[in-house]
Amino acid sequence: MLLDLKRIFGAYDAPVTAQLTFDLSGEDFPGYAVPEPVRASVTATLCGHVLELALTVEAKAVFECARCLAECERLFSVERVYSVREADLSDPDAELFFTPEGRLDLRELAYTELVLEIPSVLLCSDTCAGLCPVCGSRKPCSCRHETSGFADERLSVLKQLL
Ligand SMILES: [Zn+2]
Ligand SMILES: [Zn+2]
Repeated sequence: MLLDLKRIFGAYDAPVTAQLTFDLSGEDFPGYAVPEPVRASVTATLCGHVLELALTVEAKAVFECARCLAECERLFSVERVYSVREADLSDPDAELFFTPEGRLDLRELAYTELVLEIPSVLLCSDTCAGLCPVCGSRKPCSCRHETSGFADERLSVLKQLL
């Protein structure tokens, strides 16, 4: 959806608010996917010569835990406030990118902010211990091969010494 900032600057009388949903399921995200519609809201308020744009984006990321490979999902929300001056609309170096007609692509902006916000390496939990190198299940596993093997070896060396 394109937000017509030029028109808001030209004929402002009250804050402009919009609730939106975007389908970003076909977009390329690093290390996760966003299969469900993304909810966003934007409010544009003119304060003197500066238009304050408040954006919130809520998206559910679906990913594989980087340690144990479990399928997980997590909700992320992004809140950003941008300050736009009318001169920014035609300035290629402005913080935001506008179309030549002075419009802002909110879907593109939501996508960009999500990519910046969501880490590309995600874990099922901060304490995830990963997979057992012996049995391949999620730790703590029941095989105990790894630790008991070492203990037996050390014990037999000890026995020889005794
Ligand atoms: Zn995990
Ligand atoms: Zn194991």
